Amino acid sequence: MGPMVTVDNNKFRDEIEDIEAEEKKICEKCNKNKIPERFYNSHIKYCENCYKEEKERLFQKEIIIQGEPQIDKITEKLYLGNNQAAKNKEILKKYKITNILVVGFFLHEYFPEDFKYKTIEISDNENENLFYYFMPCFDFIDRSEKCFVHCRAGVSRSSSVVISYLMLSEKMTFENAKNFVKDKRSVIEPNKGFESQLKDFENVLIMCQYKYRLVKEYFNSFGKKK
Ligand SMILES: [Zn+2]
Repeated sequence: MGPMVTVDNNKFRDEIEDIEAEEKKICEKCNKNKIPERFYNSHIKYCENCYKEEKERLFQKEIIIQGEPQIDKITEKLYLGNNQAAKNKEILKKYKITNILVVGFFLHEYFPEDFKYKTIEISDNENENLFYYFMPCFDFIDRSEKCFVHCRAGVSRSSSVVISYLMLSEKMTFENAKNFVKDKRSVIEPNKGFESQLKDFENVLIMCQYKYRLVKEYFNSFGKKK
């Protein structure tokens, strides 16, 4: 009689789960490279290379798509709108825009010679954690003279950024800030997840007494997205 073979079922199951989890992290397009961690909360299932390729492909396609450019003045400093306006240099110049904050995936910095840009990749997904992105957005807006904030439609992501900035800089409640922005741009509608995070942000602001430095410390201690 040979040695008894014992199989540790739990260990085996763990290993299978690990393998499955690893497989889920592989790029859907090339089936080879890993999906970067910064995409985990988004709908993007591409590796860094395939994402860049796809972004470039859409860029070539997108420059020919026409649509109505929308840009709405929220304050002297803040403008909010859609990606069509981001493609329209004349309109941006007309509003004397100096900085452009691009919020989303597969969006482009169309005129790097003319404006200062920052792209923050936020997914319009209720589970996306906005708290990771507040400080980089605030820092960029603060340094801007006239900042145009846009996502694709100018409805959920970019409006959430503008609302959060107003809550901090103007000491507004979420409801006040939302109504203030909605008066200027009626189509705004942060998704349900963003809305509840913005309400949480109101409590953070009260706790930090609306002091920029304390808010910054709060987010630093909260942790950075890898
Ligand atoms: Zn890939």
